[in-house]
Amino acid sequence: MSKYFITTYGCQMNVHESEKIAGMLREIGYDEAASYNEADVVVFNTCCIRDTAEKRAYGNIGALKGLKKENPSLIIAVVGCMTQQKGGAEALSAKFPFVDIVLGTNSLDQLPIILQNKRQKRTQIALHDDPTVDLSQELPIYRTSGTNAWVNIMYGCNNFCTYCIVPYVRGRERSRSMSEVVQDVKTVLSEGYKEITLLGQNVDSYGNDLADGTNFASLLREIDKIEGKYRVRFMTSHPKDFNKDVVDVIASSTHICHNIHLPIQSGSDSILKRMNRKYTSSQYLDIVNYIRSKMPDVGITSDVMIGFPGETEEDFQRTMDLVGKVKYSNAFTFVYSPRKGTPAAAMEQIPAEVKKSRITRLVKLQNDITKSLSNEYIGGIYEVLVEDVNPKYIGTVCGRTDSGRLVTMPGTPDLIGSFVSVKITKSRSASLFGEIV
Ligand code: SF4
Repeated sequence: MSKYFITTYGCQMNVHESEKIAGMLREIGYDEAASYNEADVVVFNTCCIRDTAEKRAYGNIGALKGLKKENPSLIIAVVGCMTQQKGGAEALSAKFPFVDIVLGTNSLDQLPIILQNKRQKRTQIALHDDPTVDLSQELPIYRTSGTNAWVNIMYGCNNFCTYCIVPYVRGRERSRSMSEVVQDVKTVLSEGYKEITLLGQNVDSYGNDLADGTNFASLLREIDKIEGKYRVRFMTSHPKDFNKDVVDVIASSTHICHNIHLPIQSGSDSILKRMNRKYTSSQYLDIVNYIRSKMPDVGITSDVMIGFPGETEEDFQRTMDLVGKVKYSNAFTFVYSPRKGTPAAAMEQIPAEVKKSRITRLVKLQNDITKSLSNEYIGGIYEVLVEDVNPKYIGTVCGRTDSGRLVTMPGTPDLIGSFVSVKITKSRSASLFGEIV
């Protein structure tokens, strides 16, 4: 039997797209290989949102040159958003002439057809430039995310934050119909998944392009009506669109987790403006206060960027102040890196040593907050969905609270997929430890 090996870079959206690639390959008779060396087809599902992911992909693709020389029948495919950058596909095939197939994000469905008919020696490139087309939602899916099933509710983004390449490589927002999404959720629940994560670049603008008046709040309300014991999470939200209706639906729901990822990016209004984020720090704090007034047990997480062009020490201090005020249960803190083709890449950049000092201070602040919030869990009893064994500690399993905290406790693999009550006995940074009660 022919075998495939997929390497995925970047976000959950890409992880789910790799599940679709695997689904298609399995449908035409491929099985998963344990490594590149055993594979007949190697797929690199790339991401160009961050410089590090792009560099890693370049390094890994380049490293297969020798393997391809030893085994000329090996097929190497590069897919994902790196290929959708302006001139990206041509640059990839020029840099790596041994790559056989280059596919854009809206052309994934062509992979099986190209593989079955592959005779040409030259790199075959298939890109779909029409941003309204979405072919990937109809593809078969081979799910690999344990107890969690990803469900796309929309594709693309209309926001054009000045640092971000996504709208250029993923196209404009396209919402799936409510009935399709609800049907997908019912299907994965009937297959035994216990947690659904709704995916979109900006889930809060779900429905803006639909004519029937549906929006993210009404979608959540409809999904919550489905009977059974399960959880719903979603990502990612945009503070300019995350509104009180959505908060009210979550607060009064049975299944939607009190765990909200609300990326602030910067605490400085002038930087937010230059980022084209379309909210101010005080609007952000208002929505955070509203969330907390409705859901005191909520876990709020964020993305916080430092080193955006023009960020002064005062701007940075405002970010530190906001992080200190909100007290995120966890935050993805990162240093701005220019993305070719975005407006911010052409702005005056700030020195690397300044960025380094700021990220160090921010990480320390967030670590201290996370640690102190973790301590507040000690002694409490929380419902945890067991997701996996924790390979770090023999004889333990791990899972998350409704608020999104990772908990490790003694247990056996047969618990995976079940909801248990856990008394928290100790914490270590963001991780909690406890006993099933
Ligand atoms: S909302 Fe902004 S950061 Fe998020 S995907 Fe769209 S453009 Fe990028």
